Amino acid sequence: MRTALVMGAGGFIGSHLVRKLRAEGMWVRGVDLKLPEHWDTHAHEFMIGDLRKKEFVERVLSFKFDEVYQLAADMGGAGYINSGDNDAEVMGNSILINVNVLKQAEKVGIKSVFFSSTACVYPEYNQMDPDKMVMSEDSVYPAQPDTEYGWEKLFSERLYLAYNRNYNMKNKIARYHNVYGPYGTWDGGKEKAPAAICRKVAKGTDEIEIWGDGNQHRSFLYIDECIKATIDFYRQDTYFEPINIGSERNVSINELVDIVCNIAGKTLTKKHVPGPLGVHARTSDNNLIKTVLGYAPDENLEHGLSETYKWIQGEINK
Ligand code: NAD
Repeated sequence: MRTALVMGAGGFIGSHLVRKLRAEGMWVRGVDLKLPEHWDTHAHEFMIGDLRKKEFVERVLSFKFDEVYQLAADMGGAGYINSGDNDAEVMGNSILINVNVLKQAEKVGIKSVFFSSTACVYPEYNQMDPDKMVMSEDSVYPAQPDTEYGWEKLFSERLYLAYNRNYNMKNKIARYHNVYGPYGTWDGGKEKAPAAICRKVAKGTDEIEIWGDGNQHRSFLYIDECIKATIDFYRQDTYFEPINIGSERNVSINELVDIVCNIAGKTLTKKHVPGPLGVHARTSDNNLIKTVLGYAPDENLEHGLSETYKWIQGEINK
């Protein structure tokens, strides 16, 4: 039986990845500080522990897995990442994890680790105007991420690439763009915009609060597409530089609210309030992924949001 290791398996994307790998017939070890919060893990074995600790990482990466996915990170939505209050933790925790994982992977002879980077690595100066966004993979330098989270991911990308050069590894790095879907964080401060908006609409009666003027533009990637592209990219054996995994459909937060209201059959008045905003405009550039994988994600946003809304409403009703 082929074996897979998923670090960050208690998180949103990691728990979906575990389910998919197991459904394919692999034996899967999941690792995280915690079990998935919103559904049972599909892993054959789940190790709870702290990947910042070298000794734990040695136990986790105990043999030469066929596939290794590293998704563990200290992260959250704009309220967590953009406020500045968690910078030291976000940077320090994630960097420790990546250093430990690479050292041990190399030691046990693993050839390729998948690393989940982010669209937040892209420079702020290319994301000021929705009509003039540049998000091609090679536009990442000169570097100017708008958050310390983005800086840590950019440094870690370089670390994975350095292991490729110095230890003859074939690590794969994907830059995810706003992944959403069922079984993700939907309240408590670490949730992302789609989940937060679904929650607010589901609970709303006449008003919905939106951070800023709602003209911030983003693209959103449905979880099933994220998992498919992740596995396909990891398994290809020709491209070893960072690649975007995201959607090219760009919507404003106001438009996102309208779509969710439509799904819910509700009319809510938008109330714009101060809050952390992030860059003005961000979307994926899918030219490279089309060349490398032969396709790019193109899931209909309305379908993905309707699945997410249904699930969040169910959670609220529990
Ligand atoms: P998540 O927060 O749901 O999952 C991350 C998991 O890592 C959590 O379950 C957390 O407990 C675990 N973790 C953190 N510190 C740990 C430690 N010291 N030891 C063990 N486990 C630890 O996030 P997600 O949305 O599933 O994201 C997965 C990965 O993808 C992350 O690396 C994230 O930075 C990246 N990413 C996600 C998105 C997105 O839209 N969700 C966008 C860009 C990049």
